[in-house]
Amino acid sequence: MKTIGLLGGMSWESTVTYYQLLNRMTRERLGGLHSAKCLLWSFDFDDIAKAQADGAWQKATNLMIDAARNLERGGAECLVICTNTMHKMAADVQAAIGIPLIHIADTTAPAIKAAGSKAPLLLATAYTMEQDFYKGHLFDHHGIDVRIPEAEDRKEVHRIIYDELCQGDIKESSKKAYLDVVGRAVTSGADGVIFGCTEIGLLVSEADFEIPCFNTTALHAEAALDFALS
Ligand code: GLU
Repeated sequence: MKTIGLLGGMSWESTVTYYQLLNRMTRERLGGLHSAKCLLWSFDFDDIAKAQADGAWQKATNLMIDAARNLERGGAECLVICTNTMHKMAADVQAAIGIPLIHIADTTAPAIKAAGSKAPLLLATAYTMEQDFYKGHLFDHHGIDVRIPEAEDRKEVHRIIYDELCQGDIKESSKKAYLDVVGRAVTSGADGVIFGCTEIGLLVSEADFEIPCFNTTALHAEAALDFALS
């Protein structure tokens, strides 16, 4: 089994999910006392969130590269960035290390295609929904054309991620807000929903929707384990 390097703490609420999934899936696949070999670098998310909000992306990139190199030096054999948003600098991080970076959009795309979704709605941070690094990656590498919510809805989806989910605050009213956002998008033609922020699975689940859901956290963890066991 290879050692998985996790770049986490963004936020730690979802890094816990990665850690649990990796270990549970390893037990399911290998049985008995088997668990995932991993190394975790966990940021103080306040540093990252401030850099994001300030638009200090080069500073954030430097922090990510330093941490990724530390994981590689420690023995990680692949790198998993446990957040969609911080894939903004995935190419720079990959260029700075000698181990493969398992890109979250690459691990989500096959599920979207397998479900036959042609117009999936992307729920994510404003950075991920509005900038091109994620939507562009899905389009350029996989031919997937995602939709994003209307401006007011994007604002609320983003606010709930930072003010609530990343702080472990799971509210019924916010779940309803997410369901309403998806409902409006379905009315205008969306045929799937990408949980494009690693905390979204803490608020809603596949059972809440009648259209296919793509939980990036679960898909990413599964692909990382496939790599580790290959
Ligand atoms: N974990 C979230 C994501 O998947 C948001 C937090 C962050 O900005 O990294 O995008």
